[in-house]
Amino acid sequence: MMNGEMKTIQTSQFRILIAEHSGMCFGVRQAIETTEQLLAKKPATILGQLAHNLTVKSRLTAQGATTGKLEATDAPTRHVIITAHGAADRDRKRWREAGYQITDTTCPLVKVAHTKLARLVSQGYFPVIIGKEGHVEVRGLQGDFPGARVVLSPEDFSSIPSVKKLGVISQTTQPIAKVRLLINELRRQRPEVEVVFHDTVCHPTKDRQTSLEKLCQASDLVFAIGGKNSNNTAQLAKTAVALGCPARHIESPEEIREEWLRGIGTIGLTAGTSTLDESVDAVVKHLRFELYRREVSPSSRARVSH
Ligand code: SF4
Repeated sequence: MMNGEMKTIQTSQFRILIAEHSGMCFGVRQAIETTEQLLAKKPATILGQLAHNLTVKSRLTAQGATTGKLEATDAPTRHVIITAHGAADRDRKRWREAGYQITDTTCPLVKVAHTKLARLVSQGYFPVIIGKEGHVEVRGLQGDFPGARVVLSPEDFSSIPSVKKLGVISQTTQPIAKVRLLINELRRQRPEVEVVFHDTVCHPTKDRQTSLEKLCQASDLVFAIGGKNSNNTAQLAKTAVALGCPARHIESPEEIREEWLRGIGTIGLTAGTSTLDESVDAVVKHLRFELYRREVSPSSRARVSH
């Protein structure tokens, strides 16, 4: 068992390990900070979900934020906010031309993906995005490069036209191991094509995936904590399972069923890039105190003493 830089908490029932790299990334943190600073001065409309996290959404709503759609053309406030996932330039232009003031919280690492794909296209490569069709970040990239194909498995390669040069980038939150496998497969299937790949998976995502490998080696069960619509939290849970470790994607401690914990000695915790520290703390607290309280509750004690 490995325990590198993981944080360890020993309870009466379990050993809890927290992955070295987990939880909210700098990009989402910055977007929330910028939004809260703006909301302290004026109301604003967030064009989409700032973070795939209901707690963050409620907190910002309480501070005066409304939610709108990036693809829409009107909002109830003069100020609109583009989320860390980014947007297509044509969306920014449309909002600006409609008279709105934009606060753009696009993560610098999402901007890198747009820039790299733009360079590939300018060099004559046909654009391909490894990512989840419909995800807001991918939609932003497709908006800038309308002909781009989005692929997430070898079955999707049939949508890529027969061209001589393919320029490939990845959605920032895809597991890099999966991305590399897809690139290798694409090169294998199209040996006559020049495939240039720019790795745009962000380093916080890579760090979380690497830490997860260590966590899985040391844990009997992993909880990936984050919003149910958080792509990267779902990926963490899927990757853990692929690594051979039972894993559950949970949003809050109330979802934890006691039967999941039977026979479990070590529980590993990781969290997606939009998960608040307090969400992880709530799970730790539940595992340390709530379950313990139940174990030693008066009724349990009465049963034990009989
Ligand atoms: S997941 Fe990566 S790209 Fe997305 S906001 Fe966080 S740091 Fe930026």
